[in-house]
Amino acid sequence: MQKIVIVGAGLAGLRTAEELRRAGYEGDLVLLGGEPHLPYDRPPLSKEVVRGEKSDTTLRPREFFDEQNIELRLGVEAASLDPESRILRLVDGSEVSYDELVIATGLVPRRIPGLPELAGVHVLRSIDECLALRSDLADAQRALIVGAGFIGCELAASMRAGGLEVVLVEPQPTPLGSILGEKIGGLIARLHVDEGVDLRAGVGLQSLTGTDQVTGAVLGDGSEVTADVVAIGVGSTPVTGWLEGSGVELDNGVVCDGVGRTGVRHVWAVGDVAAWQLQVGGRKRVEHWSNAGEQAKLVAGALTGTAGGRPAAHVPYFWSDQYGLKIQALGALAGTDEVHVVKDDGRKFLAYYERDGILSGVVGAGMAGAVMKMRAKIAAGTPIGEVLEAASA
Ligand code: FAD
Repeated sequence: MQKIVIVGAGLAGLRTAEELRRAGYEGDLVLLGGEPHLPYDRPPLSKEVVRGEKSDTTLRPREFFDEQNIELRLGVEAASLDPESRILRLVDGSEVSYDELVIATGLVPRRIPGLPELAGVHVLRSIDECLALRSDLADAQRALIVGAGFIGCELAASMRAGGLEVVLVEPQPTPLGSILGEKIGGLIARLHVDEGVDLRAGVGLQSLTGTDQVTGAVLGDGSEVTADVVAIGVGSTPVTGWLEGSGVELDNGVVCDGVGRTGVRHVWAVGDVAAWQLQVGGRKRVEHWSNAGEQAKLVAGALTGTAGGRPAAHVPYFWSDQYGLKIQALGALAGTDEVHVVKDDGRKFLAYYERDGILSGVVGAGMAGAVMKMRAKIAAGTPIGEVLEAASA
């Protein structure tokens, strides 16, 4: 009887376990999670949960794991890996043997070095961090958000919905500029400003003020901001410290081939922690929800020998909810030659991304149908002229 051990009971770990059973794997299956909670969904944390509209985002009830014969071990972290003897050592000193190991340990929020430890300063990755932030927001009037990436932007929208004054600080010229490019970042900036956010783009955080409790911050341009709560969203780092010295190659994540195999026999990786060799864009970690499920399916297929190979053309997808608008993106958005905004009503917009004369990606806000129908066109490598002509017809 085979034994597959999955380290990390987040979305990617859970989906890998589910896909293995779906693919007919009947051997032992262990899902090991560092958090004490049943696997839960993270996207609602910066949206409904922080706004107080829901508190539980559990993905599967406990009975599901019993029914599927998945041994769920929660509240215990993997500490190190010995691939020679195929042994995983846990922080409680116990050992777990495996035939195949899947790494799904996700990310932790990046910290800004040198900041004082003050109450009222938060990061957001886990449900516990979210509930702590929510609790502080209940008495707050003014919040400072450092970093206008997805989490910072979504938190700004959620806090504005709760009636808070929000200052959003971003060292780059626009919010989301490094992901969507500056042109579309400008449209996102407009959205936040129109919703009453005090956006300070092109300036970073210099220091926080306060003694025990945060009272505000000094920004890189010398200006001062008052705030009862500070949320820091300056990116995340892959959880790979426990793999140091194991021989598993690490380079901003766990280095994998195109189906999640690492260079060490019987060790695989999925989800946000995994740097897969992608068909488009080279080796890259993808920190988005849909990717976790897609990679889980491919790894389960490879492990059970039921895979039909990689899908013919994988078109990455992600979404973000801000101010009641669904912002959606498909395809490759980095390294594009030109971004064509084909619709813009001052709030909703649609943009096509061009690389080498081909439609490489699409981003829309409040344009769900128009975005999703481009998936096939991106996969087919449609000439940009063709889609621009259709858009102007
Ligand atoms: P995680 O969900 O981080 O799970 C990893 C798990 O491994 C964690 O539970 C961790 O505790 C555990 N772990 C770590 N180290 C160990 C160890 N040594 N031993 C055992 N367990 C360990 N994506 C979108 O596409 N759209 C969105 O709108 C969106 N919103 C988001 C909002 C927030 C606030 C966050 C945080 C993420 C959001 N995402 C969104 C991203 C999406 O949630 C992630 O892509 C997804 O959670 C990745 O799943 P994962 O299993 O790889 O990692």
